Amino acid sequence: MSPIIVAIDGPAGSGKSSVSKQVARELKFGYLDTGAAYRALAWACLNLPDFTVASLEARDLAKDFNYSISTDPDDFWVKLDSRDLTQAIRETSVAEFVSQVAGIPRVRDFMKDLTRSIISQSDLAGLVVEGRDITTVVVPSAQIRILLTASESVRLERRTAELPKGSVSSVRRQVIDRDASDSKVVDFMTPAAGVQLVDTSDLNFNQSVSAVLTLIEKGLS
Ligand code: C5P
Repeated sequence: MSPIIVAIDGPAGSGKSSVSKQVARELKFGYLDTGAAYRALAWACLNLPDFTVASLEARDLAKDFNYSISTDPDDFWVKLDSRDLTQAIRETSVAEFVSQVAGIPRVRDFMKDLTRSIISQSDLAGLVVEGRDITTVVVPSAQIRILLTASESVRLERRTAELPKGSVSSVRRQVIDRDASDSKVVDFMTPAAGVQLVDTSDLNFNQSVSAVLTLIEKGLS
């Protein structure tokens, strides 16, 4: 049986990842971070000689990009072949480069298929799947579809607090510039028809988790 899908989209700093992870824990669902695959591909372009942005237009990613990811919210890892990239994909260089990779239509098609295949292979009761285009493109049929947002200043504040070593200009590039670049490809700032908006600007972490859990309870009852 296919898992119940809770699809959560939103911009950087909206609380998407941390809230999705906690919601998954509370419901005993799996957690799927779809941005991690874009980051792993960006990491490959920055670090592996035979992966370049230009090469992504032609290569068979289904064959060459041997990616795996954990869906356990308490034991999260990401691998390319047998190489553990869990920490490496969070590097500033990757965060500042990932939009270039995510803007390539062929890459997006591949990621859509990859995400759907991870979902279909899951034997869990449910999965919280988070990203930029999950509610609209990847799993528009999800039982619960939520867009998590927050004001620009709150998102910047949260990211600055998360990255103690990051400079203000780097955080700006990772939040505002990345969102501006990502928005040219997918609209994740306004909810599509049937997608419920949760604005976390005035909510703390626990309140954000509760707001999402309430919508899920209502949606599944
Ligand atoms: O969510 P995270 O910040 O890790 O995503 C990294 C990048 O991957 C985003 O900035 C975006 O360019 C891309 N992405 C995407 N679609 C998704 C998830 C991530 O385009 N579903």
